[in-house]
Amino acid sequence: MAEDVEIIKKFIDADMHVTPGALNSLRETGDLRSAAEMVLERFRSMPEKPVIVTEELVRRILRGGSKTSVEAEPPVFSQAETHPEKIKTKIACGKFEPPAADIEPEVEVLIDVTGHSNSQGRIEDFIRLFNDRYERLSRILKERLDMRGAIPIGSVREYEGQTVRIIGMVMDKRETRKRDLIIELEDPTGNAVVFVHKNRNELMRKASEVVTDEVIGVEARVGSDSRWSRLLFVNDIVWPDIPVPRQRRDEGTAEEGSEPIYAALISDLHVGSEMFLEDAFARFLKWLRGESGNPNQRQVAGRVKYLVIAGDLVDGVGIYPNQEEELVIHDINKQYDAVVEYLSQVPEHVKIIVSPGNHDAVRPLEPQPALPKDIASDFESFEPVLVGNPAHLLLHGTRFLIYHGRGFDDLISADSSLDRKNSVNPMIKSLKKRHLAPIYGEPMGGRAPIAPEGRDYLVIEEVPDVFHTGHLHVYGCGKYRGVLLVNSATFQERTSYMKRRGVRPTPGIVPLVDLRTRKVRAIRFA
Ligand code: FE
Ligand code: ZN
Repeated sequence: MAEDVEIIKKFIDADMHVTPGALNSLRETGDLRSAAEMVLERFRSMPEKPVIVTEELVRRILRGGSKTSVEAEPPVFSQAETHPEKIKTKIACGKFEPPAADIEPEVEVLIDVTGHSNSQGRIEDFIRLFNDRYERLSRILKERLDMRGAIPIGSVREYEGQTVRIIGMVMDKRETRKRDLIIELEDPTGNAVVFVHKNRNELMRKASEVVTDEVIGVEARVGSDSRWSRLLFVNDIVWPDIPVPRQRRDEGTAEEGSEPIYAALISDLHVGSEMFLEDAFARFLKWLRGESGNPNQRQVAGRVKYLVIAGDLVDGVGIYPNQEEELVIHDINKQYDAVVEYLSQVPEHVKIIVSPGNHDAVRPLEPQPALPKDIASDFESFEPVLVGNPAHLLLHGTRFLIYHGRGFDDLISADSSLDRKNSVNPMIKSLKKRHLAPIYGEPMGGRAPIAPEGRDYLVIEEVPDVFHTGHLHVYGCGKYRGVLLVNSATFQERTSYMKRRGVRPTPGIVPLVDLRTRKVRAIRFA
């Protein structure tokens, strides 16, 4: 067992998670240690390595599979983009003529609850919300080859002894006394109890990722014994997931030879908190104005056309117990006045897009509508594009999904393969589940409380090109099936809350996305 822990740690040190199934196949070689070393060595030599090392992946490497097939295995984490460069703070000389000033902004909001909220919080509204979620996600699942011919749960009884496919919302998941797993599924026609045997390692690993209130597909044999006629024995579990791109979209859509246009992604400023890193943020603004950085960094600054803020502009008031003690600005409106003061230093040609987070002054229930225009006097002076959380929008033809990330709290506590340090992994999970905050929890009591709108805005129906989140305060960048994933970290120092959880934030890092190539360059200002 000690050996297992040692191997698992080795993978974690290399930024990878090894599944129990993968560990088993390593052990089956008879020499766990050297098999693990061999596999690790293989990954180290690859430009992109997987976040999760699965049984299949290990088997393939042990079999001596071709290098390309391993690289194509999703999820793929791009290592090249994870090391931010430092800002050179020497006074920049020479005229600053930003090419971005000659480009018209192109912003189109595609999906956003703002102005469409119709939730009254009645029981019927919740039923409506969950029906809508089921509708949208089961539609995606039905398009999968491995879910073809899925039957309504209500008709399962007619298939005794046969293998069926069903699509249902997870009502409950629990362990039996013998440590097998029971998952309860529901669709509009009925309920089913599906059973996962504890000895089926790969299946148990999949089942460990199943969370309540999400919609999954299951292939199972219907128990033939009349006593078990309602029990289904699981063969496979599938998630809606996003399709593997036919061609990698790394290249973006722009024509050959066009000039780069950058979007600077930030989040979690927490203005008003005594931990807000004023100096680092001032350094960022200075660079954006072309007043600092080496020639190359200055050139990038001149090409920034968009500044996207994914929530938590301010620290807010009364968000957590004893927050007053950690505030330097105690009035919420004054906090936003301070934000306006900073943002007014952003060059005029940079279009600012603002989406709220759980510390902002809008309802905490998700989806959150946009911040009101009059949240601060002069907020409108720089004409920001105010969108909700989440929001789907087009920036110069690139499809962005902006989501603050509160739903990740629940996902991380429900799935042991996730933690608060690797901020890209929950993003991959939510793309797989095609939902930003699947776990609903206790009505009104969950960590990510959901407003019962008639439409589930948290379903990821359209696949974005760029998925931008914050909330975890840890910079992360990666790629999953062609989607660029960026967690833009924070401008707030480590809080007492993070200390208690043993998490180190990575403040002051600003990822810059080249909308033409969809490559990321990150600059560190702290
Ligand atoms: Fe935050
Ligand atoms: Zn947050």
